[in-house]
Amino acid sequence: MRIAFVAPEMAPFLKTGGLGDVAGALPDELAKCGHDVSVFLPYYSQLELGRLAVHERKEKFTVTIDRHEYEVTLSQVRDKRRNVQILLIGNKELFDRSSLYVDPSTGVDYEDNDIRFLFFSKAVIGAIQRIGPAPEIIHVHDWQSALIPVLLKNDSSSGSYFENTKTVLTVHNLAYQGAFPSERFRLLELPTEMMAPETGPFEFWGKMNYLKAGLVFADRLTTVSPKYAMEIQENSETGCGLDGVLRSRSNDLFGILNGVDYKVWSPSRDKQIPATYHLNNLSGKRTNKVELLNRSSLPIRDTAPLIGMITRLVDQKGIDLVAEASEELFKMNVQMILLGSGEKKYHEFFKDLEDRYPDKCRCYLTFDNVLAHHIEAASDIYLMPSRYEPCGLNQMYSLKYGTVPVVRNIGGLSNSVVKYDATTGEGTGFLFDEYSSTAMIAELRKAVSLFAKKRAWTKLMKNGMREDFSWHRSALSYCRLFESLVNH
Ligand code: ADP
Repeated sequence: MRIAFVAPEMAPFLKTGGLGDVAGALPDELAKCGHDVSVFLPYYSQLELGRLAVHERKEKFTVTIDRHEYEVTLSQVRDKRRNVQILLIGNKELFDRSSLYVDPSTGVDYEDNDIRFLFFSKAVIGAIQRIGPAPEIIHVHDWQSALIPVLLKNDSSSGSYFENTKTVLTVHNLAYQGAFPSERFRLLELPTEMMAPETGPFEFWGKMNYLKAGLVFADRLTTVSPKYAMEIQENSETGCGLDGVLRSRSNDLFGILNGVDYKVWSPSRDKQIPATYHLNNLSGKRTNKVELLNRSSLPIRDTAPLIGMITRLVDQKGIDLVAEASEELFKMNVQMILLGSGEKKYHEFFKDLEDRYPDKCRCYLTFDNVLAHHIEAASDIYLMPSRYEPCGLNQMYSLKYGTVPVVRNIGGLSNSVVKYDATTGEGTGFLFDEYSSTAMIAELRKAVSLFAKKRAWTKLMKNGMREDFSWHRSALSYCRLFESLVNH
């Protein structure tokens, strides 16, 4: 099967969150299942391609938006470690920016994000037609490529080229929808009834919504965990206002849990941590903890569990609970190291927290992939109190690193962490239901008191380390879905 995989970001070249990790790993796993996979990405100026050669292909064409002709350059990355073709869709005016989606000088989204990703979607459709036979599947991700299924079904300019092509849209986070002022709809040059109030697939509370239209037109929809697939259909809060559309597509909507790239995220092979370790010899974990505490100017206290957090500092991640609970938290014998970046109010809060608890708390308010690995490897407990969580990756990384997760019982967190049972010693972590600082602290207390019982704690760590969330399993689910769609 030929698969075109279209994503706005891809690790390790560039990522802002979990979608980047998925795009970095899933295409290769699909290729391992025997499929011919091409990945399409915007050619951002800040892609970190290292020593990989980039070869500009001879096919050049233009995409017209609002009577402006944007030239498309198509470049191919030669990456021998991968079995997939990587194609970069270039246009300097649109993708040579200092950040991906948000203008750092104003802190708000680039004003022309609608044009940037309309261009990207049209350019991908043009590029696919120029490089070979039509794919059976175009797998698009989030609002940035959600227009592709819409354009394929409503724009006749590609003739019959895509008549046997099916589209699958994966939603990584329903809160990000690509909503733009309704007057901008004319740029899409689609029939005006598609923006009609109540009935138009693009129309959403007076705005134009790329994701909503994608949810209407893609042949199949997936999201990144079975629990989140249910939750987003429940009500308008959990469904971010799109619950009605999702319920109407319920039979076509599947939850497939993301996997982990264990080549990158496992303590026995991790090249980014001071000391590797594995299930049968955990001594390296202590070395990592000591080094991280030293680096962070925190005292070494063997009786105090180190709580790690690596997160975008946004409301979704339950940061307000941590802020609310901080006094209670530091009454316990714990230390905490947080790595995060995001909203200004949280930056200020954590800067202050560090000053208030200089021997217990250190906050790195930045994005740092190497430090993220070190925190996973050094911490005893990983805290993830998300308000909602489509899948979440760090709780799965934590399991492999023997870092016991304390998480909220929602979304992908429920699908990956098994509640610890003190009587049997089974389970892999601690889960709390209610979104409250009291519920979170209660579960943290259980974790902290178990930490003192070394044998039970080590067993719990090992239960987690034995779990397998490798991509292979998830990729098989995607393959089955693609095959059923193609044979439909
Ligand atoms: P989301 O996509 O909602 O941010 P996920 O848990 O799915 O959450 O994925 C987040 C990814 O981004 C993980 O790989 C995590 O380690 C990484 N990450 C988040 N914040 C930082 C940061 N400040 N520095 C380094 N890595 C980070």
